[in-house]
Amino acid sequence: MMASSFVDLHSHSTASDGTLPPEEVVRLAKASDLSGLALTDHDTIAGIAPAAAEAKKLGIDFLPGIEISAAFPHLGTLHILGYGVDPDSAVLQDLTRQLIDARDNRNPRIITKLNELGVDITMEEVERESGGGVTGRPHIAAVLLRKGYVNSIKQAFDKYLGQGAPAFFDKERLPPERAFELIRQSGGLAVVAHPLQLRAQNDAQLDRVVKDLVDMGLAGIEVIHSDHDAAWVQKCTRLAERYNLLMTGGSDFHGSNKKDIRLGIANGRRVPREWMDRLLERLQ
Ligand code: AMP
Ligand code: ZN
Ligand code: FE
Ligand code: FE
Repeated sequence: MMASSFVDLHSHSTASDGTLPPEEVVRLAKASDLSGLALTDHDTIAGIAPAAAEAKKLGIDFLPGIEISAAFPHLGTLHILGYGVDPDSAVLQDLTRQLIDARDNRNPRIITKLNELGVDITMEEVERESGGGVTGRPHIAAVLLRKGYVNSIKQAFDKYLGQGAPAFFDKERLPPERAFELIRQSGGLAVVAHPLQLRAQNDAQLDRVVKDLVDMGLAGIEVIHSDHDAAWVQKCTRLAERYNLLMTGGSDFHGSNKKDIRLGIANGRRVPREWMDRLLERLQ
């Protein structure tokens, strides 16, 4: 039988805010007939070793990854994917330590604020929810949902945790040039995730932001993503051509934390195997 010609290059496990353990994300990729997978947990590479081992066992190609939220002094958010990073790199270990410290500084402030607002929630409950991995607002939202303070994860962000809501606190973020530098020193390639979420006001501003990132060392752009409709896929394809960027894509699978997203399918699209091959070639 011929191997499948589709991959998923953006996925999350219980190592961050997904609901499936890393091994199970790999098993699901295999069961979904994908020939390649990248695990891109937020701020951690804790899932990489178990996922890589399972991928080897099942005969599916695996690319280590990470997703970092960088500083972006505009409207939206700038998420940077690092592909092919070496999990044993000391630079990468320092980087993840720094990112998790920033969370450890922020999370208790959110909890204190929630308590002040009359919400009965403790850091212990949140850590139980996250299972000891990278802990973030989605885990706090899950506790709020379970305890009946909100009716949905989205409502938890709207009412308490999101930008502009009363219990919003930002974490310290790396400037993008620093994130690029550390990803490169860890042996990886930096790719801008879901450019729609930059929330550029128009195409000219989007172009300028991408060009600035290219000047800082950007290697690729996420073209296919669950948030991207046909117009965004086209916009990002054009930017890839204009700035000679690698094209990547993935579902941003989070398990049952984002129930409408299936591994391997991003807003109805699949990601061609060739995109993973080009990344692998560049990483050689
Ligand atoms: P953190 O990294 O802990 O600040 O949490 C950020 C994560 O929360 C993002 O990666 C999203 O998955 C999730 N998130 C952010 N805003 C919302 C929202 N309005 N509704 C649902 N999930 C959100
Ligand atoms: Zn996430
Ligand atoms: Fe993201
Ligand atoms: Fe993601």
